[in-house]
Order: sequence, then C-alpha cells, then structure tokens
Amino acid sequence: MKNTFWKGLRGQFFAVGLISVALLAVSVVVTCVFVIRTAMYGQVRVELEGCVEYLQNYYNGMEGDFKLVVNEDRSGSIYKGDKDITNDYTLLDIFSESFDADVSIFCTNVRALTTFRDENGERMINTGTSAIVSGDVYEGGHDAFYSNVLIGEDKYFAYYRPILNSDGSVFGMYGVCRNAANVNRGVNRTILPIILLFAVASVLIALATGAEAGKTVKMLNVLNRFMEKVAKSDFEVDLPEKMISSDDEIGVLARTGKQMQNSIRKLVNYDALTEVHNRRYAVNELREVCRSAEEEGTEFCVAIGDIDFFKKVNDTYGHDAGDIVLKEVAAVFRRRMGGQGFIARWGGEEFLFVFTNCSLEQALSVLTEVIDDIRSLEIEYEGQIISPRVSMGLVQGERGDNEEQCVKKADDLLYYAKEHGRNRLVTNDIMESEVNASDEPGSADS
Ligand code: GH3
Ligand code: MG
Ligand code: MG
Repeated sequence: MKNTFWKGLRGQFFAVGLISVALLAVSVVVTCVFVIRTAMYGQVRVELEGCVEYLQNYYNGMEGDFKLVVNEDRSGSIYKGDKDITNDYTLLDIFSESFDADVSIFCTNVRALTTFRDENGERMINTGTSAIVSGDVYEGGHDAFYSNVLIGEDKYFAYYRPILNSDGSVFGMYGVCRNAANVNRGVNRTILPIILLFAVASVLIALATGAEAGKTVKMLNVLNRFMEKVAKSDFEVDLPEKMISSDDEIGVLARTGKQMQNSIRKLVNYDALTEVHNRRYAVNELREVCRSAEEEGTEFCVAIGDIDFFKKVNDTYGHDAGDIVLKEVAAVFRRRMGGQGFIARWGGEEFLFVFTNCSLEQALSVLTEVIDDIRSLEIEYEGQIISPRVSMGLVQGERGDNEEQCVKKADDLLYYAKEHGRNRLVTNDIMESEVNASDEPGSADS
C-alpha cells in the first residue's frame, strides 16, 4: 500500500512538492539562523561593551589609580586611590545581575575581583585569562570582544578593556562575560518558530500538490477504464464530455482515446477495401436481428449477392482491376441500401444484405434496382470498360431461424441463380414458379 502510493503520480507529486519546499525552507532557515545569530551576537557585544563602559565610568569617578598593595602576610589588596576595594562587591554584583553577565577586574591578567564563583561557591579570584586575551588587551592595550572564551567548563562571550593608570601604564583589565549557552538559547527561541512555520508550510504545500495530483490521477483512472473497455471491443463506452473538451493534456489524451476507439471500431467492423461492414460485424448484427425477430416478431430479409465470373475479371484485367470492381460494386450496394439495414462483405466477391423491419416486397424492390444499377455500371480501367454483373438470392427471415440458417437459405437461392443464368435475383417464389413451370407437361425441361 505504502509502496504503491509512492510509485503513483499522487505520491510522486507529493514527494516533489515536499522536497522542493523543504529545500527552499532549509535555505531560508539557514539564512535566518545566520542573520539572527549575527544580529544577536552583535547585540551581546554592544551590551557587554556598555557594561564595561559603566564599570569604567564608575571607577573613573573615584579619585586615584588602581594599585596592588602586598600585605605583610604576602596577600594582596586592590586599592582605587586610597580606598581598599578588595572586597567591595556591591557594584559588581549589581552589574552582574542586571546585565546577566559575570564581571571581573584584573590586576595584570589575574582576576583580583570577580563575580565568577567555582563549584564550591568561592569567588574565582587569582585565576587568569588565556594568553590570547592577555596578549590582545593587557599587552596590546586595546578593547577586545570574543565569542568563544572558555572559563571553567563553560563557554562565554566576553568583552575586555585595559585599565589605564594616570601615567598611561596598564594596570589590568575590566572583563564582562555572558554565558554562551544562555545567548544561544535566546537565538534558538527566536529561530524555532521560523523553522516550525516553514515545516508546516512545506507539508501543506506538499499536501496541496498531492491533492491536485489526485484529481489528475482520478481522470487518468477514468481514461484507463475507457481504454480497457475499448481493448475488450466495447465500442459503446464513452468518456465524460467535460474531459473530452478539456484544454489540458488530459483532454488531448481523451480525444486521442476517442479517435483510437473509432479507428479500432472501423478496423474490427469494416472491410478495409470496400469500406462496407465485414463478416465479423455482419454475423453479430444478424444474430441480434434474428433474436429481436424471435422475441418481438419483427420482419427482416437476408440476401447474398455474388459478382458473376469475377475470376475472369482478375484474369483478364489483373487483380488491381478486380479490386476496383469490388469497390465500385460495393458503392452501388451501399447507396441503394440507404438506411434500410446494412450490407457486409461476406467473402471474396460475396456480399450480405440484411434488411431490418422490411417486407420481402420492399427488399425485392430495392435489390431489383441494385441489379439494374449494376447492369448499367461501366467501370473504366486503363482505357477498357468492365461491366460487372451480380447474382443474388433473397429470403424473408423466419421466426426461429438463426443467422446461419438465414444465410444458408439465401445462399441456396444464390446457387440456383448461378445455375440458372446468373445476372439475376432469385427468391423462393421465383424459384418455385420456375421449378413448377419446368415440371409442367410440355415444358422444355420435362
Ligand atoms: P461465379 O460467377 O460462379 O461466382 O464465378 P467467379 O469467378 O465469380 O467465382 P470464383 O469463386 O471462381 O472466383 C472468385 C474470385 O474472386 C477468386 C478470387 O481470386 C477473387 N477474389 C477474392 N477476393 C478478392 C479480392 O479481394 N480482390 C480481387 N481482385 N479478387 C478477389
Ligand atoms: Mg462470383
Ligand atoms: Mg463467390
């Protein structure tokens, strides 16, 4: 079931829709992620720099330079001017909390005051910075921003600024750091709705494409059922008018299907040379005529016509001439038959006439005219005139007769016509009257 879906047009359209929109979504999301991350990292830098600025302004407001005083017990104290600020964390802790950042004041590249605490909750004083930070800021004497500083186990965004004494020497550094995991969480919170939006849009577009393909598949199924029926010689089956008149490829396919149905109908039911019905069609139709005569008592007549001495035409003028004669004779038959039934090429130069809802008198009258027409037919072939003649046997269909019996009776009369002069039409009455006449005493045959 699953495999069939993906192999079908609907599945393929769904996959193409999903893949193309997903590719578009991925490229848009990647671009968004890049833009948003760059913007947010830039924002972090601005905030951390602002924090350093505050710190610097605050300490610049205090008289005197930073200095390190080594006590008798060899411990160090940090002074700003005359004020010992070694344990003055009031401001640093407020900064840390309000900027969501850890703040450090470095003496050289060693933390002298810091809001960083180790796993025991102790302030991480006397810890140092990396050689890169120390080189850039303490030795280089300029600000620096880093997006990937490792402090303890965690990564940080960090902004450093050198602390300059009044004589221009560098005392140490201000350092403000924000946990990278917190920043990235913020980035992800912004990006997630965009990703979700595109994921939902991808699925919706793929579903819409699949649904559109579903309509096409439905129409293809209708076409397929039509073709299957035509393949089984059902020439009555039709396609919806809307589909045939449609301007799209399905419409083109439907019209081609109808043309194909007509072509096959012709091939199956018509004789290619004379363009009258063929024997297959005639047998089926005559069976139907016999059946409706039996069930409803409708009148019908059957005749067999055969061109006289046709072999001689072939022998004298050639096979091509014979073909032309067959076509011309069939054309006369068809013209005279009108809508009173049908004719069919029964064999080589034999034709079957079936008159439906027709009395023997009416059929006799039509066929008499046919024979007269043939008698006056002159077919020109390569400068010579060919005048074909036909013999015919005509019977009235009898209730209960099947198609074979009808044809056999007409054929017997045709045989009689051939035996008794050709170029004539024979019915049972004609034959009987001739037989009776020949039986009468004094007749030539007796
Ligand atoms: P009869 O008056 O007794 O019917 O004599 P006939 O010569 O018409 O009949 P016969 O059965 O001896 O010959 C029929 C010929 O019709 C033989 C065959 O070659 C020819 N024939 C059958 N089909 C075709 C065809 O499609 N084209 C041509 N040119 N000749 C055909
Ligand atoms: Mg013949
Ligand atoms: Mg024949």
